[in-house]
Amino acid sequence: MQIDLHFHSTVSDGSSSPQDLAKLCVEGNIKIVSLTDHDTIDGTSPFYEAIGGAAQVIRGVEISCSYGKQTVHLLAYDANLLRSWGRVEKMLVRQRQLRAKRAELICDRLEELGKPVDRMALREKSKQKVIGRPDIAMAMLNAGYCRTRREVFEKYLGDGKPADIPIERLSVFDAIDCVHSCGGKTSIAHPHQLRDLGGPIIKECADKGLDGLEVNYGPYSRSEKDRWLKVAVEHGLFPTTGSDLHDTAGKHSLGMEVTEEYVDGLGQWLAD
Ligand SMILES: [Zn+2]
Ligand SMILES: [Zn+2]
Repeated sequence: MQIDLHFHSTVSDGSSSPQDLAKLCVEGNIKIVSLTDHDTIDGTSPFYEAIGGAAQVIRGVEISCSYGKQTVHLLAYDANLLRSWGRVEKMLVRQRQLRAKRAELICDRLEELGKPVDRMALREKSKQKVIGRPDIAMAMLNAGYCRTRREVFEKYLGDGKPADIPIERLSVFDAIDCVHSCGGKTSIAHPHQLRDLGGPIIKECADKGLDGLEVNYGPYSRSEKDRWLKVAVEHGLFPTTGSDLHDTAGKHSLGMEVTEEYVDGLGQWLAD
C-alpha cells in the first residue's frame, strides 16, 4: 500500500496547493496521507476536503524546534481530526510571529548592508504562508543582488554571514510535551540532518517521550533506512514514513510503498 506522512504545500514552502496535492494523492491511490507544512496546519482543512474520503487523512505539521544550537524538525501527527489542537496551534502562531519578526530584522540588516529588498511583498506573502529565509533569498534574487540561492546564503543569509539573525527557538522537549498535551504523536524528521548530535538528541528525546523516528524517509537508500530502523528499535520508536516532497514538478513523487503489517502498526501507534 502507498502512504505518505510528510510533504509540503504552498502554505509553507511547497510548490503545490493543498488541493492539488490532494488530487495527486487520490490519483496516486495513496491511502494514508498527512500534509506536514512547516509550523502551520492551515492547509489541513482544504487538503482534507479535497481528499473527499478517498484516503485516510492524518493531521500533521513539521515543527521547527531546537536542541541547543541544533535545529530539529519534529513531525506531529493526530489521527483524530475532531480533537482540539488549540495548544499546538497557539505554539505555532508564536513560532510564525517569531519568524515574521526575524524576517523584518533580516530586512533591516540587508538595508544596512546596502541591499534592500521588497519588504511589502514579503509582508503580503506572510499573510498566506510562513515566511522564512528562502523567501528572503528569493527577494534578493529578484532584486538582482545574487545569481543563485546558494550565493545568497553563502554571502548574506547563511549561518554566521552578515545577515544571519538568530531566531528565538522552541525547545524540542517543549514541542513534544505540547503535542502530547493535545493527544498527538511525535517523530523526528530526516534524522541524518542531526549529524553527530543525532545519537544524543534521539536518546534524550526518546527518554522524554518522543514516539517515532522518520526511518522511511523519501531520499534514503535501503541501507540508510536499515540503519535508522536499528536506532528506532533501540529506543522503542515507531518508524514513520514520508517523502518530504516539496516540489511536485521535480523528479520525486508522493507516496511510498509499505506492507499491510506496517499499516496495522501505524494504526496502533496513532491510536495509542
Ligand atoms: Zn524538515
Ligand atoms: Zn519537511
